[in-house]
Amino acid sequence: MPVDFVIDKTTGLAFFPSLEKNFGIKNFITYNNSKWGNMAYSLAETEAEKQRIKRLDRKLMRLTAAKYSFVMTTPPEATLLVLDKPQINYLLKDSRLEKTPGREVLIRANSVIAERFKIPYQIVVGPADCAVFIGVFKKQPANFNGVVVMHIGFPQVYQRLHIRTLELAAATYNLTPSDLSLLKFYITPYICPRHYSISKKVFDYLAYEATIRRRLARFVEYKNNKYFVDFVGLAKFELEKSFGIADFVESGVCTYEAAAQNALFSYTRYKEGSQRKGVFAVVVGVGSK
Ligand SMILES: [Zn+2]
Repeated sequence: MPVDFVIDKTTGLAFFPSLEKNFGIKNFITYNNSKWGNMAYSLAETEAEKQRIKRLDRKLMRLTAAKYSFVMTTPPEATLLVLDKPQINYLLKDSRLEKTPGREVLIRANSVIAERFKIPYQIVVGPADCAVFIGVFKKQPANFNGVVVMHIGFPQVYQRLHIRTLELAAATYNLTPSDLSLLKFYITPYICPRHYSISKKVFDYLAYEATIRRRLARFVEYKNNKYFVDFVGLAKFELEKSFGIADFVESGVCTYEAAAQNALFSYTRYKEGSQRKGVFAVVVGVGSK
């Protein structure tokens, strides 16, 4: 598993250097919680925290040089969005943002196929155990110039969000199988299989059919009446099987372990009562054409 991930002690931000260097995609993960902390307004505990988040959001926009911020709110169902030029124009108009650059637009989506636009913008995801898959093409397809961003937890993998996103991208932009096979995914910190489990009851409910059980079998381990799930492993396996994508860069960081060091956020730790409820921010800067 190739790892190319830097944690900058000074800024408290982490990033994938080669994603920026080789693909021009500025990217930041709010890593150190004493410098960044919870990045969701909706989970702010005080008015002061809300104001602080606003300031930090502005800071991230300056770093990615973005004029607009599209913030993914992630519904439980697999929700896919194509951010093409008409859609971006519509979102900006609809929110009356044209006159107020620097504002945020909420988009309801677990995955976004984002075209470069005349104005640089950023996509923000707020995970707390889930992975964010940032997909770039090693060779630019004829009809698409942009990036694919997917919020991937176990529910989304179970719903085949990863497969459906690339099918949608292929259908929208006439991408060939050979185009798709040239995707490379950067995978942000997520909860590793040693720390992510679901109860036997939930697993049995989900794997109610033999075909589903077979699909999951290689990526679950049964221990102490629980199923430990490698949802990222499953997603990578299926991306390779369906599209021949085998180029993944990971962070080597588990959110559950990092959360014990006051870095990132882990929903599992929150449920156990040892971390407040929060999210960190994964910021993907989509530069202008
Ligand atoms: Zn772990």
